[in-house]
Amino acid sequence: MSDLILMQGNDAIARGLVAAGCAVAASYPGTPASEILSSIDRWRKKCGATMHVEWAVNEKVALEIAYTAAIAGLRAAVSMKQVGLNVASDPFLSAAYLGVTGGFLVVSADDPGPHSSQTEQDSRLLAMMAKVPVLDPASPAQAMSLAGTGFDLSEAFGVPVMLRPTTRVCHASQDVDAPPFLPSVREARFVKDPARWAATPLFRRKLHDRLAEKIEAIASWPATAPIRVNPGGSPAKAVVASGVAFSHARELFGELGISDRIALYQVTQPYPLHAAFIDHLLETYAEILVLEESAPVIEMQIADRRRVRGRMTGAVPGTGELLPEIVERLLSRFAGLPVQGRTLSTGGGRGRRPTLCPGCAHRSSFYAIRKAAPAGIFPSDIGCYTLGINLGAVDTVLCMGAAVSQAAGFDYANRLSGKQVDIVATIGDSTFYHAGIPPLIDAVVQGARFVLVILDNGTTAMTGNQPTPGSGIGAGGEITAAIDMEGLVRACGVSFCRTANPDRLPEFVALLKEALVHSRERGVAVVIARQPCAMVAFAAGGRDPGAIAITAECNGCRHCVDRFECPSLVFDEAANRVRIDEMTCTGCGVCVHVCPTGAIRSA
Ligand code: SF4
Ligand code: SF4
Repeated sequence: MSDLILMQGNDAIARGLVAAGCAVAASYPGTPASEILSSIDRWRKKCGATMHVEWAVNEKVALEIAYTAAIAGLRAAVSMKQVGLNVASDPFLSAAYLGVTGGFLVVSADDPGPHSSQTEQDSRLLAMMAKVPVLDPASPAQAMSLAGTGFDLSEAFGVPVMLRPTTRVCHASQDVDAPPFLPSVREARFVKDPARWAATPLFRRKLHDRLAEKIEAIASWPATAPIRVNPGGSPAKAVVASGVAFSHARELFGELGISDRIALYQVTQPYPLHAAFIDHLLETYAEILVLEESAPVIEMQIADRRRVRGRMTGAVPGTGELLPEIVERLLSRFAGLPVQGRTLSTGGGRGRRPTLCPGCAHRSSFYAIRKAAPAGIFPSDIGCYTLGINLGAVDTVLCMGAAVSQAAGFDYANRLSGKQVDIVATIGDSTFYHAGIPPLIDAVVQGARFVLVILDNGTTAMTGNQPTPGSGIGAGGEITAAIDMEGLVRACGVSFCRTANPDRLPEFVALLKEALVHSRERGVAVVIARQPCAMVAFAAGGRDPGAIAITAECNGCRHCVDRFECPSLVFDEAANRVRIDEMTCTGCGVCVHVCPTGAIRSA
């Protein structure tokens, strides 16, 4: 029996995975994929499925765990965002060679736009490089059904399969006909075969040949063949589309009345593109327009520059999302219709710039860092604390864990130039566990000199408060072992490791100064700034908005507003002074230490 349920795309993917008998699921959070694993946990509980579900320390570890379950014969999935796939690329490429015996799905959610990512990269290109087939859903409902198709494809050919939703699929909601849950009857059974599972270079060469044969066979697998969605007539033109661009095109075909003039094809498996489909296109149509996000993966496989138009030819914008108004313009031009002058989305108005939440302890840390090292260099990392850029305490953001390596790099570069510069790097607790430990070990061994502030708010706040290895809770809320951060830092060889609450601002500034002295003379110093995420405390009702007051001594100097930037400090232009927004103030009291005239007081 099936039932119709309104589901977000990520929830639908999760339901599709659980219904298809996924036994092991692992992930590291990252927008737009973050909700997939928590939804898997919810569905497994609701369906009574026996599963191992975990938030792994990073995407590489998550992939290795799920992959291993798949070579033991179970169905397994790993989910991440597209930049997470970079972290997992090493085992991802090897897994394609070695193959699987159970079904293995790599869900890599892309972020065309990009709305919340460092890069707009297209996971399909990495899949092409790895020789891993890709399924490209156009809607939440299709993402759910392709989860099951992906497992079938994986098992039919013994390869990992990528499911590649994009932000608009992950976060859209739709009524879906949810498949029933069928309990898995499989048993883990690893069949030893060192020539395959522990392959040496000679065997890898053979495995590569075998993989190329599999990809050729997948290019004619009936279940994933492209389909023409407006059959009838023999038009000379065709539009070939995948993902959300297909959904926009299908709607616009009706609105523009071009269904009888142009054929519309949906490609759900952009790589490998079906060989017979390529032949059919080139034999049948004089002009072909390809609509896909983000890279020209389908277009380059058709590869006939005389008849194919798309991102490679410049007919379609080379970067950014294919928003409905862009697709409308492209289709009108392709159909020879007048191009409508509809206003294009610009990606949002001016609004207020993003800032840390009221009561966020990261704000205290950044304020203290600026106080302790006013002429310092501040490498930082990936997380909500990247917003410290507005507070003048974040100078660089490269990728997960790079704050630590960049701090070392700045130190080496300055010392080579005969300069001594204070360097204070910041990294969140989750990011530290993810990718900060190896560069910390390297920095200690190489004798680098900087202060590393680990902003420990006890959660992965930016992606929805998933647990970290230090939280002591698992994906389903169960109690787990918790990592001792201080012990870990000391085990990396750091001799100065101190923990403090950054909301105690004067003491925290003094501690940072002490750490800077140590770093100048003796190497890396680590300060753990520990205070729970304000949103977690807020949700638990831990706020006292009446605790803070602005006195008549406020002279409107704006120091608190411009340098501390708590959203609950509101500048009243008419009165030329500051007031407290009691709706949002958490009563943390940190601003008391910020006002130079002492006009902010505990009430
Ligand atoms: S509260 Fe203090 S820092 Fe803020 S504007 Fe008034 S005098 Fe300046
Ligand atoms: S007490 Fe001050 S710093 Fe804390 S939330 Fe309220 S206004 Fe912001």
